[in-house]
Amino acid sequence: MVNVKINGIEAVVPEGTTVLEAARLAGIKIPTLCYMKDINEIGACRLCVCEVKGARGLVAACVFPVSEGMEVTTNSPRLRQARKTTLELLLSDHKKECLSCERNLKCELQSLSDEYGCDANRFKGSVSKAEDKDVSTEYLVRDNAKCVLCRRCVATCAKVQTVAVIGANERGFKTNVGCAFEEDLAKSPCVACGQCINVCPTGALHEKYEIDDVKAALADPEKVVVVGAAPSVRAGLGEEFGYPIGTNVEGKMATALKRLGFDHVFDVNWAADLTIMEESRELIERIQKGGTLPLITSCSPGWIRFMEYYYPELIPNISSCKSPQQMFGASIKTYWAEKMGIDPKNIYVVSIMPCVAKKFEKTRDYQSASGYPDIDASLTTRELARLIKEFGIMFNELPDGEFETPLGEFTGAGVIFGATGGVMEAALRTAVEKITGKSIGKNLDFVDVRGTKGIKEASYEVGGLNVKVAVASGLSNAKVICEKIKKGEADYQFVEIMCCPGGCVNGGGQPILDSYTRRNVDYKALRAAALYSEDKKLKVRKSHKNETVKAMYKEYFGKPGSHKAHEILHTHYVARKKY
Ligand code: SF4
Ligand code: SF4
Ligand code: SF4
Repeated sequence: MVNVKINGIEAVVPEGTTVLEAARLAGIKIPTLCYMKDINEIGACRLCVCEVKGARGLVAACVFPVSEGMEVTTNSPRLRQARKTTLELLLSDHKKECLSCERNLKCELQSLSDEYGCDANRFKGSVSKAEDKDVSTEYLVRDNAKCVLCRRCVATCAKVQTVAVIGANERGFKTNVGCAFEEDLAKSPCVACGQCINVCPTGALHEKYEIDDVKAALADPEKVVVVGAAPSVRAGLGEEFGYPIGTNVEGKMATALKRLGFDHVFDVNWAADLTIMEESRELIERIQKGGTLPLITSCSPGWIRFMEYYYPELIPNISSCKSPQQMFGASIKTYWAEKMGIDPKNIYVVSIMPCVAKKFEKTRDYQSASGYPDIDASLTTRELARLIKEFGIMFNELPDGEFETPLGEFTGAGVIFGATGGVMEAALRTAVEKITGKSIGKNLDFVDVRGTKGIKEASYEVGGLNVKVAVASGLSNAKVICEKIKKGEADYQFVEIMCCPGGCVNGGGQPILDSYTRRNVDYKALRAAALYSEDKKLKVRKSHKNETVKAMYKEYFGKPGSHKAHEILHTHYVARKKY
């Protein structure tokens, strides 16, 4: 520990702590723009500059370590002027269109400029990158005219996701962030995770909007417009309306969806239960008949894309189950359409997802069970919030509503899909009972696979078998597991992989949190806790006990893994070329 003095306040902090962290421990906030703890510590933006007694010039607090007796000033006229000038220089070549910007009121550049009283037009730079907009993919837009070159996206893509498809091109004033050789993102092995969007401090990155398509469908009298939201949307949506992180707004969301004018408001949680029916059958069959193990989950389209690009040799390990989003749409346009006597061509299915990869997933081959796309539009949690605001719905005032039956009835197992380890736990609740033929009673909580740790391992005695499982979230962690499997060093039977760190609660389509909150609040755990607490409250917590899912098998599919179930609820994967 070392003794330091920050703005005259004495503090004792661990040696090697940066000035930025030491100040935080002393209750002092220093502004940052490029900094991400352990991920992007490059001292590039110069907004965290501080004065250190005896040091020459200003130091970047995010990379400058404290030492015994150090005296630091974090706020002075000189520092405020330096930061203001830096911001004004950033604004000089920035496409300043806050009023129509995705990040208006949620932009770190905007709020810092406001805090420092900047004159946005003090310096006039050439907005050289104004036309440099990448709209080549189905899921993401890069507008470099709003980029401040902080490289948070670059570091996240490379270090958190180990994908590394973006970096800085050119030098000096021409510097721009994009793919190698300034190719379009669509030509790169980007996995569509959207984690770069979540960490971007400005409006330079956002998902490709489908709001207008949904509005057009809602206004079309010929269309029967059906909607369903994924489990983790209810754990994030409230943040867009001022609720604390981790507030479950499921009831208000159901009411809001009805008021938006959707003809039928179902729940993708229901399809999560259906996924477990199919996936646990696949697991049991592979264990009992000696199929390829470990079985690896397929719910996360970013993970699937990563596997197809970087580990295609694992294709035989991947569950052939479609994701809950796709099972939801496929069931609506087949089973439900038949039951209701509606031609699937007139059904328009909208999914609300915490994810941007879902926008890509719905365009994949083998995702049109009825002959029409399983899903017509996939909105992120953020897009849903925009729609609710645009329609003048006072979300906070809404009474709690409920989802419709039959495709809105779900169990606790379906709810926890949104957290890392949730799919594993839901599958175990069903697989254990199916293998042993006995009820697991109240022992429903497989706590070893819970929590936000990147890699979790556990083993369970199931009917005389030792079932070893692993759970990974975030692709850097997935890579560790994939390498182990590839080298034959893993003896798992079942592996859950989620593309985004912490699982879908931290998906690329979830509400944006500023960098200070991201590094100082365990938001992934808070959002996950909202789902686990709902699971705890529900009377039915096992997917195979979902009465509507059971009825659907009786009336339509026969049994899990039947020929019909395979045709409608399962899919195929392809090895993708990286370049
Ligand atoms: S990125 Fe921020 S500062 Fe730039 S236009 Fe958007 S809201 Fe305004
Ligand atoms: S979407 Fe994911 S893989 Fe693609 S550039 Fe962004 S962080 Fe990288
Ligand atoms: S796109 Fe966003 S995160 Fe990436 S360098 Fe530009 S401002 Fe930073």
